[in-house]
Amino acid sequence: MAQNAEQRDSILRGIRVLDGGMATELEYQGARIDGPLWSAQVLEDSPEKVVAVHRAYIEAGAECLLTASYQVSRMGYREIGLAPERADAALLHAVELARTAAAEFPQRRVVVAASLGPYGAALHNGAEYHGKYKCAFSELVQFHRERIDVLATGQPAPDFLAFETLPSLEEAQAIGEALAPWPDLAAWFCFTCRDAKHVAHGELLSECAAAVARFPQTVAIGLNCTRPALVPPLIRELRQASEKPIVVYPNSGEGWDAAVRSWTGTGDAARFGAMSADWFLAGAQIVGGCCRTRPSHIRQVAEVAGRLR
Ligand SMILES: [Zn+2]
Repeated sequence: MAQNAEQRDSILRGIRVLDGGMATELEYQGARIDGPLWSAQVLEDSPEKVVAVHRAYIEAGAECLLTASYQVSRMGYREIGLAPERADAALLHAVELARTAAAEFPQRRVVVAASLGPYGAALHNGAEYHGKYKCAFSELVQFHRERIDVLATGQPAPDFLAFETLPSLEEAQAIGEALAPWPDLAAWFCFTCRDAKHVAHGELLSECAAAVARFPQTVAIGLNCTRPALVPPLIRELRQASEKPIVVYPNSGEGWDAAVRSWTGTGDAARFGAMSADWFLAGAQIVGGCCRTRPSHIRQVAEVAGRLR
């Protein structure tokens, strides 16, 4: 990863288009992701499907890939009886698979971000969407430190760390503490938001953004796993809080109806592309998609980014 501040600041220069959902697309590739490791299972069982998803997103226009390691953690592996070293290996394997796909496009600059979900994602009970964890701050720090240390020292290295779907200020601060021994690393911080001002746990997004902007490792700040309708006002909050580049990758626009256990509403790719124009114009530098977004959505975003360039 970056060796100094100048290298760190150049990682995201010129990058506009992020990829879309990994789990969604793995399902379309026929992968089973309903086991206790979710999409991390695919890293072990069918890595070629992960490469295929990355390839599809690069072909659609993505300039930045998030690795398939969102749910990978020592804690999660330990809970289902797997050795913690297997989680460490999976983190690096996920980077390798993204690099493999990127290498198929030597004429393109594609950066690779290690996807790191929040503590709640490893609990597999939806806790990342409220952030009310029953654990001490020191446990949160430890949870993140274990993954950061592997990615900071192992090979292949990602270009930066992407902390995603963060529900609370407390978890962001725990990550800051876990990152402290590694001032030369690069990271972005994306929060999941419940309304036009607040992250899932209830703190102001602006407060969270101002806090993470102070970490030396921070290369961008933003939101993901959030309803697209909330993105414009949330970008305004981010702009007021810091000067850091802004990244947004909301869900497709469909909503999960728990009563009937299915997705409702529209996740139309062309509509997503039209909305992405508003997000770029509002001040987002990088736009991609989270849950239920596919290469068709990213193709639309890439077309918009090309028009606005
Ligand atoms: Zn999502």
